[in-house]
Amino acid sequence: RLYNEVQELKGNIRVYCRIRPFLQGQNSRQTTIEYTGENGELVVANPFKQGKDTHRLFKFNKVFGQAATQEEVFLDTRPLIRSILDGYNVCIFAYGQTGSGKTYTMSGPSITSKEDWGVNYRALNDLFHLTQIRQNTVMYEVGVQMVEIYNEQYKIFLNLHTLGIWNTALPNGLAVPDASMHCVRSTEDVLELMKIGLMNRTVGATALNERSSRSHCVLSVHVRGVDVETDSVLRGSLHLVDLAGSERVDRSEATGERLKEAQHINKSLSALGDVIFALAQKNPHVPYRNSKLTQVLQSSLGGQAKTLMFVQVNPDGDSYAETVSTLKFAERVS
Ligand code: ADP
Ligand code: MG
Repeated sequence: RLYNEVQELKGNIRVYCRIRPFLQGQNSRQTTIEYTGENGELVVANPFKQGKDTHRLFKFNKVFGQAATQEEVFLDTRPLIRSILDGYNVCIFAYGQTGSGKTYTMSGPSITSKEDWGVNYRALNDLFHLTQIRQNTVMYEVGVQMVEIYNEQYKIFLNLHTLGIWNTALPNGLAVPDASMHCVRSTEDVLELMKIGLMNRTVGATALNERSSRSHCVLSVHVRGVDVETDSVLRGSLHLVDLAGSERVDRSEATGERLKEAQHINKSLSALGDVIFALAQKNPHVPYRNSKLTQVLQSSLGGQAKTLMFVQVNPDGDSYAETVSTLKFAERVS
């Protein structure tokens, strides 16, 4: 085993907090971030309130401050990602309110510049690189799937027939009926697929942005490795999940479609929290059946699987209430 770093991790669940910087033109805003410590401490404060009970201390496995680069964030997750080549199942989530940087962390702001790449492209790039280095000892096949979960329904937005489809019962989760599995050989293949996948989503560009904050987007990477000498087979998987925005929707304002969406999001995020909480507590009963999201990821959550949650924070004072609720959610599962 090359990557025994992974075995040294305490427990199977880790929580990293990432604070996004103020965006252009926002620098004069009040911030909620009072302090971030080397050991994962974070103090948030309500900038508009004085006196007692305005400060709260949280502790996570790590806090990435506003200056953290995509590369730094990736390097911290790399041992986990690499472990899939040794047969582990890994889930990485980004949780937080809309605008807190979930997509930035998972995918990056654009795919044209490598500097910008988020965890997903960097992960695939690294995996392809390693499979090449190891090709004389283990022959790997890599397949990807892209699935969106919207209103408790799957939308498979990568469903091409022009590429070789991995027609196999998946041992590592995401047993989504009809979700095609695409064999990929390079990061370029993946970028190409993602472009097509995004185009396949039937909504327009602005609608897409809106919609993406109300659906969970799961990119799954499955690897199958055959040992050249012994012919033994190992399988690993990596699920990269850009969750729907966690913000509370005002029930008095939301109606119709919007209310329905909000209820579905609420339900699935709580279900996810409950599953991770049960796992962290080593409860014998883990309530996977309560949402599509947790059903889909069931075999990659728990057991030997490793889970990493990025909790994303918007530093803006106006976001204080949402930020506290985000951090409380994360604290419960860490
Ligand atoms: P979410 O997916 O949670 O709704 P986004 O990832 O779209 O949030 O981020 C909202 C905005 O903030 C985007 O314009 C994004 O480029 C920017 N942003 C987020 N995180 C960072 C960061 N760490 N550094 C610079 N800009 C960021
Ligand atoms: Mg997003």
